[in-house]
Amino acid sequence: MAGESIIREPTESEKQNFVDIMKPSYDTNFIKEMRKKEFEYAKKYQPFCRRCCKLDFEDAVAQLKLNITRFRGQNKVDSLVNIGSMDKYADKKRFELLMESEANDQIVVAGRREPRVVGWHVDYKCNVRGCNITVDMPLDVYDKWKGIKPADKK
Ligand SMILES: [Zn+2]
Repeated sequence: MAGESIIREPTESEKQNFVDIMKPSYDTNFIKEMRKKEFEYAKKYQPFCRRCCKLDFEDAVAQLKLNITRFRGQNKVDSLVNIGSMDKYADKKRFELLMESEANDQIVVAGRREPRVVGWHVDYKCNVRGCNITVDMPLDVYDKWKGIKPADKK
Protein backbone atom coordinates (compact mmCIF):
# COMPACT_ATOMS: atom_id res chain seq x y z
CA MET A 1 0.00 0.00 0.00
CA ALA A 2 1.33 3.43 -0.87
CA GLY A 3 2.35 5.35 2.20
CA GLU A 4 2.43 2.28 4.39
CA SER A 5 5.89 1.18 3.40
CA ILE A 6 8.31 3.03 5.62
CA ILE A 7 11.99 3.27 4.84
CA ARG A 8 14.18 1.05 6.95
CA GLU A 9 17.62 -0.46 6.84
CA PRO A 10 17.49 -3.69 4.85
CA THR A 11 18.81 -6.84 6.51
CA GLU A 12 22.05 -8.38 5.21
CA SER A 13 20.27 -11.02 3.13
CA GLU A 14 17.91 -8.41 1.71
CA LYS A 15 20.79 -6.17 0.68
CA GLN A 16 21.88 -8.81 -1.83
CA ASN A 17 18.44 -8.95 -3.41
CA PHE A 18 17.46 -5.31 -3.35
CA VAL A 19 18.71 -2.15 -4.97
CA ASP A 20 18.03 1.19 -3.35
CA ILE A 21 16.85 3.58 -6.06
CA MET A 22 17.93 6.56 -3.95
CA LYS A 23 21.56 5.47 -4.41
CA PRO A 24 23.29 6.77 -7.58
CA SER A 25 24.60 3.34 -8.64
CA TYR A 26 21.31 1.51 -8.38
CA ASP A 27 20.93 0.74 -12.09
CA THR A 28 24.58 -0.27 -12.43
CA ASN A 29 23.98 -2.83 -9.69
CA PHE A 30 20.86 -4.04 -11.41
CA ILE A 31 22.61 -4.43 -14.80
CA LYS A 32 25.48 -6.27 -13.11
CA GLU A 33 23.09 -8.74 -11.46
CA MET A 34 21.11 -9.17 -14.67
CA ARG A 35 24.26 -9.95 -16.70
CA LYS A 36 25.30 -12.49 -14.06
CA LYS A 37 21.93 -14.21 -14.31
CA GLU A 38 21.91 -14.06 -18.09
CA PHE A 39 25.36 -15.64 -18.22
CA GLU A 40 24.27 -18.37 -15.81
CA TYR A 41 21.55 -19.45 -18.28
CA ALA A 42 23.67 -18.82 -21.38
CA LYS A 43 26.15 -21.40 -20.08
CA LYS A 44 23.27 -23.90 -19.97
CA TYR A 45 22.05 -22.80 -23.45
CA GLN A 46 18.71 -21.79 -21.99
CA PRO A 47 16.76 -18.65 -22.89
CA PHE A 48 16.61 -15.73 -20.48
CA CYS A 49 14.35 -12.76 -21.26
CA ARG A 50 16.58 -9.76 -20.68
CA ARG A 51 14.02 -7.42 -22.23
CA CYS A 52 11.28 -8.32 -19.73
CA CYS A 53 13.76 -8.29 -16.86
CA LYS A 54 14.80 -4.75 -17.75
CA LEU A 55 11.25 -3.52 -18.42
CA ASP A 56 9.90 -4.91 -15.12
CA PHE A 57 12.75 -3.24 -13.27
CA GLU A 58 12.14 0.09 -15.02
CA ASP A 59 8.43 -0.17 -14.22
CA ALA A 60 9.14 -0.91 -10.56
CA VAL A 61 11.56 2.03 -10.35
CA ALA A 62 9.08 4.39 -12.05
CA GLN A 63 6.30 3.29 -9.66
CA LEU A 64 8.50 3.78 -6.61
CA LYS A 65 9.65 7.21 -7.78
CA LEU A 66 6.03 8.17 -8.24
CA ASN A 67 5.17 6.97 -4.73
CA ILE A 68 8.10 8.92 -3.31
CA THR A 69 7.03 12.17 -4.97
CA ARG A 70 3.42 11.68 -3.86
CA PHE A 71 4.18 10.89 -0.26
CA ARG A 72 4.05 13.65 2.33
CA GLY A 73 5.15 13.53 5.91
CA GLN A 74 8.03 12.61 8.15
CA ASN A 75 8.55 9.06 7.01
CA LYS A 76 10.03 8.32 3.66
CA VAL A 77 8.58 5.77 1.30
CA ASP A 78 10.44 2.51 0.77
CA SER A 79 12.96 2.94 -2.04
CA LEU A 80 14.08 -0.67 -2.45
CA VAL A 81 13.41 -2.72 -5.56
CA ASN A 82 13.65 -6.51 -5.28
CA ILE A 83 15.94 -7.89 -7.97
CA GLY A 84 16.44 -11.27 -6.35
CA SER A 85 13.80 -13.03 -8.39
CA MET A 86 15.39 -13.01 -11.84
CA ASP A 87 15.04 -16.77 -12.36
CA LYS A 88 11.49 -16.21 -13.50
CA TYR A 89 12.87 -14.64 -16.69
CA ALA A 90 14.29 -18.04 -17.58
CA ASP A 91 11.22 -20.05 -16.61
CA LYS A 92 10.62 -22.65 -19.34
CA LYS A 93 6.87 -21.96 -19.25
CA ARG A 94 7.63 -18.45 -20.39
CA PHE A 95 8.97 -19.49 -23.79
CA GLU A 96 7.59 -20.90 -26.96
CA LEU A 97 10.01 -22.57 -29.35
CA LEU A 98 9.68 -20.87 -32.73
CA MET A 99 12.34 -22.19 -35.06
CA GLU A 100 15.60 -24.06 -35.24
CA SER A 101 18.01 -23.21 -38.02
CA GLU A 102 21.49 -24.39 -38.89
CA ALA A 103 24.42 -22.12 -38.28
CA ASN A 104 26.78 -22.43 -41.22
CA ASP A 105 30.40 -21.65 -41.66
CA GLN A 106 32.44 -21.79 -44.88
CA ILE A 107 35.26 -24.24 -45.18
CA VAL A 108 37.56 -24.80 -48.11
CA VAL A 109 37.47 -28.34 -49.47
CA ALA A 110 39.76 -29.09 -52.42
CA GLY A 111 39.97 -25.41 -53.26
CA ARG A 112 36.21 -24.88 -53.15
CA ARG A 113 34.23 -23.12 -50.49
CA GLU A 114 31.62 -25.33 -48.93
CA PRO A 115 29.16 -24.63 -46.16
CA ARG A 116 29.61 -26.62 -43.01
CA VAL A 117 27.11 -26.81 -40.15
CA VAL A 118 28.81 -25.58 -37.00
CA GLY A 119 25.80 -25.30 -34.72
CA TRP A 120 22.20 -24.28 -34.40
CA HIS A 121 20.25 -21.08 -33.82
CA VAL A 122 17.24 -21.82 -31.63
CA ASP A 123 14.63 -19.05 -31.68
CA TYR A 124 12.15 -18.56 -28.86
CA LYS A 125 9.31 -16.16 -28.23
CA CYS A 126 8.72 -14.89 -24.71
CA ASN A 127 4.98 -15.21 -24.05
CA VAL A 128 4.83 -12.28 -21.65
CA ARG A 129 5.74 -9.43 -24.03
CA GLY A 130 6.43 -11.22 -27.31
CA CYS A 131 10.20 -10.76 -27.03
CA ASN A 132 12.44 -12.69 -29.41
CA ILE A 133 15.35 -14.63 -27.99
CA THR A 134 17.92 -16.67 -29.92
CA VAL A 135 20.08 -19.27 -28.23
CA ASP A 136 23.13 -20.36 -30.24
CA MET A 137 24.06 -23.96 -29.63
CA PRO A 138 27.16 -25.84 -30.67
CA LEU A 139 26.46 -29.14 -32.49
CA ASP A 140 27.21 -31.43 -29.56
CA VAL A 141 24.95 -29.47 -27.22
CA TYR A 142 22.16 -29.46 -29.79
CA ASP A 143 22.44 -33.23 -30.36
CA LYS A 144 22.35 -33.90 -26.63
CA TRP A 145 19.33 -31.62 -26.25
CA LYS A 146 17.53 -33.45 -29.07
CA GLY A 147 18.63 -36.86 -27.86
CA ILE A 148 20.58 -37.53 -31.06
CA LYS A 149 23.36 -40.06 -30.54
CA PRO A 150 26.53 -40.02 -32.68
CA ALA A 151 25.50 -43.43 -34.13
CA ASP A 152 22.25 -41.90 -35.43
CA LYS A 153 24.21 -39.56 -37.65
CA LYS A 154 25.59 -40.56 -41.01
ZN1 LIG B 1 10.04 -11.05 -22.55
